[in-house]
Amino acid sequence: MRAAVTERVGAMAMTERPDPPTPGPGQVLVHPEAVGICGSDYHFFSGELSEAAGGSQFPRVQGHEVAGTITALGPGCRAELELDQQVALWPLRACGHCYPCSVGRPNACDNFELIGIHVDGGLQGLLSTAQEQVFPIRAEDSAVAALAEPVSIAVRAADRAAIEPDERVVVLGAGPIGQCVCLLARERGAKVLVVDLQEGRLELSREMGADTLVWTERDDVVAFARRWAGPAGPPVAVDATGAPGAVRAMVDMVASAGRAVQVGMSTDEVSLRIGSLTEKELDLLGVSCCDSDAFAEAVRVVERNGALLARMISHEFPLEQAPEALRFAMSNPTEVMKVVIRGE
Ligand SMILES: [Zn+2]
Ligand SMILES: [Zn+2]
Repeated sequence: MRAAVTERVGAMAMTERPDPPTPGPGQVLVHPEAVGICGSDYHFFSGELSEAAGGSQFPRVQGHEVAGTITALGPGCRAELELDQQVALWPLRACGHCYPCSVGRPNACDNFELIGIHVDGGLQGLLSTAQEQVFPIRAEDSAVAALAEPVSIAVRAADRAAIEPDERVVVLGAGPIGQCVCLLARERGAKVLVVDLQEGRLELSREMGADTLVWTERDDVVAFARRWAGPAGPPVAVDATGAPGAVRAMVDMVASAGRAVQVGMSTDEVSLRIGSLTEKELDLLGVSCCDSDAFAEAVRVVERNGALLARMISHEFPLEQAPEALRFAMSNPTEVMKVVIRGE
């Protein structure tokens, strides 16, 4: 089979690899039909995620946003899984015995293995995985089914934020994750304001029923958001950028006793006025991946909103051009919303 192998930091190449063996007990063989590429792929490729593990993750087949079809099932898989079924993959496997696992938060497991980061992912002809990570999904296009993974991050963010109907929610960043958070907040009945540097990205948010604002100066954005939400400020603010200015704006704009939710990944540092945490008694909440219940909900969100989510897919490449696809995505951040790589 063909595989796009990230051989070391900054180097991906197409190679021929042997097919995986017949699946063992509880294992499922999946043919990836569509693999979404996202910011965490850029971080891995450029060494920000991988070097933390001492570079031991190379060579690695990337691709954690995977939809495909089941081509073989090992013994002992749950009955709902069938041959030729369309599926989306929950990329996470937790250790089950660390502190986060022991308190029911496997998505923050200290030892988790993510498909496409710690174990080989979707950018190959066949992928063997545990049956617990395989979720049947119905989508007209497998590229849309692959969006279950970014949607699952938004489900987790909405759960962490505990969004209530009619609450005012500000989302900073209108990339794929910000759009998915907007969708989840709208589905939960919230009124949403989405902020982004690029006006063009805000159109999709407006179609989801959100108000929008183009990012200008941090203080102006904070003032606008507080006016928009009413005098107390928004009870929920979510950063989906990882940009220090946006993170600071999130903390500054959110209402006292509100929830500030960090979803965007970054290795940057941000300075915050310590008093904003004590005086406002904020809940400052992080989001890491999601658990299997949230992934199951993400599958249903995708099934309900296929046409809307399809509009996030801006570019497609065949598997054979996976290295070019990643290079293209990383060098055209303003043009690219979601790059999807199609399996052959
Ligand atoms: Zn992703
Ligand atoms: Zn664990």
